[in-house]
Amino acid sequence: MAASGGNVMERIVALCKRRGFIFPSSEIYGGINGFWDYGPLGVELKRNLKDAWWKDMVHAREDMVGLDCSIIMHPQVWKCSGHYDLFCDLMVDCRACKARFRADQLKDMQCPMKPSKHPGEHDRCDLTEPREFNLMFESYAGAVKDEENRVFLRPETAQGIFVNFKNVCDSTRVRIPFGIAQIGKSFRNEITPRNFTFRSREFEQMEIEFFCHPGESARWYEYWRDVRLRWYTDLGLTSRKLRLREHGKDELSHYSCGTSDIEYAFPFLAEGDFGELEGIAHRGDFDLRSHMEGKLVARDGKLVPDLDEQGKPKYKGSGRDLTYYDDERKERFIPHVIEPSAGADRGTLAFICEAYTVDESRPSPELMRFHPRLAPIKAAVFPLVNKDGLPEIAEPIYRAIRQRWPAQYDAKASIGKRYARMDEAGTPYCFTIDGQTKEDGTVTVRDRDTGAQTRIDKTRVVEFLAEKLGL
Ligand code: ATP
Repeated sequence: MAASGGNVMERIVALCKRRGFIFPSSEIYGGINGFWDYGPLGVELKRNLKDAWWKDMVHAREDMVGLDCSIIMHPQVWKCSGHYDLFCDLMVDCRACKARFRADQLKDMQCPMKPSKHPGEHDRCDLTEPREFNLMFESYAGAVKDEENRVFLRPETAQGIFVNFKNVCDSTRVRIPFGIAQIGKSFRNEITPRNFTFRSREFEQMEIEFFCHPGESARWYEYWRDVRLRWYTDLGLTSRKLRLREHGKDELSHYSCGTSDIEYAFPFLAEGDFGELEGIAHRGDFDLRSHMEGKLVARDGKLVPDLDEQGKPKYKGSGRDLTYYDDERKERFIPHVIEPSAGADRGTLAFICEAYTVDESRPSPELMRFHPRLAPIKAAVFPLVNKDGLPEIAEPIYRAIRQRWPAQYDAKASIGKRYARMDEAGTPYCFTIDGQTKEDGTVTVRDRDTGAQTRIDKTRVVEFLAEKLGL
């Protein structure tokens, strides 16, 4: 049974720290708000998630290519994309405790300075008027810290794909419809990072921009919405905590004719609340046109150039031709774009929460039921005792497994403790070599989820794992 209840998140965070999934960044100096480090198990888990995405979305498909862009790009990219002007949250300051908050999250925030007068809620304190706060981190490229040299850390990986659209078309044999995929770090100076890794200031995204003919974009939007939802369920997010939510017309950006979020009911959220794992957006031709013509705004349902007070374009585009000539249709057009944009850290966190199980009937009640593709360690090998010729049988079995999958060898502590450690790491199978192995050549296989033990011939271990893991 999956765990539920108020302190579940605390227990998950504690397990992540204890077993080396996730640590607070720079912890020995007290940590830094909104930044996290992945420990030895966490790095494998997150890498497995990213590898699964890359394999399923890029390698397994004939209509997708990959890309890896720089984090810092020409500042004009962010002016034309709209991030420079619009990528803002409203923030307010509490005059009592001097803390800063996102205006839309005030209700959940306690004011430590006024707990008695106002039942701890900031929305009843002495607050400043809401002000806009741009979420992009700034830096300077070059020795001089002036406006000329001001640059931004990307707040999304998507723009790197749009500005390389022409390069990819010119250097590969892709034909529309096709997609470009990218995994990489993004940075947002979130006003109130919180909920473990859910809202961080540095995080990783897995993004696809799928380019298609405008007449086919509605169909591709539905296709991608379904494909992406199925990807999560195939990897084990099967509970009712996962859902797809179609945005209402009033929630859509001016250029979008459809957006859906894949959401998960994280244990740190209130009952009935969901948090976004991935957004799938129909972006029309907004991005390619903006990088071609300059920043656009919507007027009377149409995209028009954003003009300054003198009536000149506020931000100039690249002036490059980002149209596409379809030689089958004999038609030139600006492709429409469907964007499935996922967070690798939020995904990892959702799989951690889903996997976390407490079964009080077991000697060690906490276990992580990861899908075999995601499990950081696929198998463990234990000689029951570290003598009597058992290590000599166990070691070659362990070496054979390691040739194909990450595995661990453990000859110390009681067998119960060794199983418990592997349960917490989410290792699907443990093989124990005991006295009977010397007699009949069989080893015990223990299944993480059921705790059931069976015996198989020691020569069949790798074959058994290949079959069970499906890897
Ligand atoms: P939110 O509304 O939660 O701030 P968003 O709608 O701004 O998210 P997008 O801009 O659509 O998010 O980014 C795509 C994905 O990137 C999100 O679905 C999420 O998985 C991830 N992501 C965005 N911001 C963060 C963050 N601060 N920390 C971790 N992951 C993030």
